[in-house]
Amino acid sequence: MKLRTRISLTFVGLVLAGVALVGLLSSLAIQKYIETRTIESLHGRLEVLSQLFARGRLSVDSLGGSDAELGSIARTLNVRLTLIRRDGTVIYDSKVPRDSLRNLENHGNRPEVGAARRGGTGSDRRMSVSVNEEFFYAARMITAAQAGALDSGFVRTALSLNDVNAVDRRVGVIVWGVGLLAGVLTVIVSFQMSRRITRPILSISQTAQAIRDGDLNQRIPVTTHDEIADLARAINEMAEKLGTDIAQLRKLERIRSEFLGNVSHELRTPIFSIQGFIETLLDGAVDDASVNRDFLEKAHRQAARLNALLNDLIEISRIESGDMKMSFRYFDVTEFLESVLEEMREHAARKSITLELLADGTAGDRVFGDRERLKQVMINLVDNAVKYTDSGGKIVCRATHEKSRVELSVEDTGCGIPQEHLPRIFERFYRVDRDRSREVGGTGLGLAIVKHIVEAHGSAVNVTSAVGKGTSFSFSLKT
Ligand code: ADP
Repeated sequence: MKLRTRISLTFVGLVLAGVALVGLLSSLAIQKYIETRTIESLHGRLEVLSQLFARGRLSVDSLGGSDAELGSIARTLNVRLTLIRRDGTVIYDSKVPRDSLRNLENHGNRPEVGAARRGGTGSDRRMSVSVNEEFFYAARMITAAQAGALDSGFVRTALSLNDVNAVDRRVGVIVWGVGLLAGVLTVIVSFQMSRRITRPILSISQTAQAIRDGDLNQRIPVTTHDEIADLARAINEMAEKLGTDIAQLRKLERIRSEFLGNVSHELRTPIFSIQGFIETLLDGAVDDASVNRDFLEKAHRQAARLNALLNDLIEISRIESGDMKMSFRYFDVTEFLESVLEEMREHAARKSITLELLADGTAGDRVFGDRERLKQVMINLVDNAVKYTDSGGKIVCRATHEKSRVELSVEDTGCGIPQEHLPRIFERFYRVDRDRSREVGGTGLGLAIVKHIVEAHGSAVNVTSAVGKGTSFSFSLKT
C-alpha cells in the first residue's frame, strides 16, 4: 500500500473512532440528561396539579362530570394523569376510558404510590400493564381539607418513554449527523494532509532514484526546516560528495594514463638512439676509427640519460605512493649549503659558471628537515641553474633569516622562463623547451620531485623569472 494511502487511512480510522466514541458518550450523556430533566419536569407538573387539587381548584367527579376538564389539562401539560384514592382505587386516568376504570388493578401497591404514601412523593419507571407502554411515573399524596373525593389520595403524572425517546432520537440524529459530517471532512482533510506529508518524500524518492541511475546533478528542493528537509539535505550532500569523488577519480585516472603515456615516450627516445648507434657500429662503423668512439660515447650518454630517467621515476613513484620516509632533524644551514656547493662546484666550473654562497646572516642557524632530501632539492635546483645558464654566468645560493624561518634560494643568470610557463613547470615531464631540456640531459621530473619534498616540509617553492635575465627558486624552512 502506498504511504499516502496508509497515512490517510490511519488518520481517517483514528478520527472516525474518535467521532464514534465521542458520539456514543455524548448520546449516552444526553439521554441521561433528558431523562433527568423529564423526571424533574414531570415532578414540576405534578406539583402544580397537586396544588390545584389541594386547594380545591380542581376536583374529580366520580360520575365523569370533570373528565373533559381533566382530560384537557392532561393534554395541555402533555402528561398522563391518574387520580388514585387512598385505598388504591383509580378514579380517573386520562389514558383509560371511564367505563374501563373498574377493571384496573388496585394501584395502592404501585411503587411510586407506595413511596408517596410513605414520604409524600414517589417516582418509578416501568411498563404499564394498564396501557401497555413504558412510562416515567411521579406520584404525590394530597392531604388538604377541601380535597373532597381525593382527600388523602394520590395525584400521579406519567410520561410515556416513547415521547422521551423521540426527543432522544432527534438529538441522536443531530449528534450522529454532526459526527458524520466531521468524518467526511476528516477524510477530505486527511487526504490533503497526507498529500502534503508525502509530497516531499515522493520528491526525495524520485531524486534518489535518479542519483542511483547515475544522474548525480539531481538535487532535492529543500523548502522547510523539518526532519524531512534534513533527510533531503543529507541526500543532496551525499550526491554532491559522490559527484566530487567521481570527478576526482576520473581526473586521477586521466593523469595516470597520461603519465604512463609520457613515461613510455620518454623511455623510448634514449632506447631508440642507443639501438641506432649500436646497429650502426655493428653494420661496420665499429671498424671506422673516425666515428666508432664518438658513437659509443653517444650511446653511453643515452644510457646515462635512461639511468637518470629511471632513477627519477623510481623516486617520484616512491614519493607519490607514500613510500618515501622522511627523517626530520635539526641541522646547521650554512654547513648544509656549503656541502651542496662543494658537490656542485666542479659541475658548474665545467661550464665556467661561478657558484656563490651568501649566508652571512644565518651563521649558526639550525633548520628542521630531512637533510638528505633537502640536499636532493638543492642539487636539483643548482643542477637546473647550471643546465639553463650559459657559460660565464653566475649562480648564487642564498640563505636569509626571517622570523622563525630561514629562506633558501637558488638564483641564476640564465635564460629565464616565460611568465606563462611558470605555473606548469612543476608538473611531471613539463618542459619549457623540450629540445634544450633533452640536450642538457633533463628528465622533466626534477622540479616535480623538488615540489613534493618541499611540500612534505610544510613549505612551498616560489619561482620568479625574467626571460634572458635569470631565474630564482626559493623555499623556507623552520628554524
Ligand atoms: P628538466 O629535467 O627538463 O630540467 P625540471 O622538472 O627540472 O625538468 O624542470 C622543468 C622545466 O623548467 C625545464 O624543462 C625548464 O624548461 C624549466 N626550468 C627549470 N629550472 C630552470 C632554470 N633555472 N632556468 C630556466 N628554466 C628552468
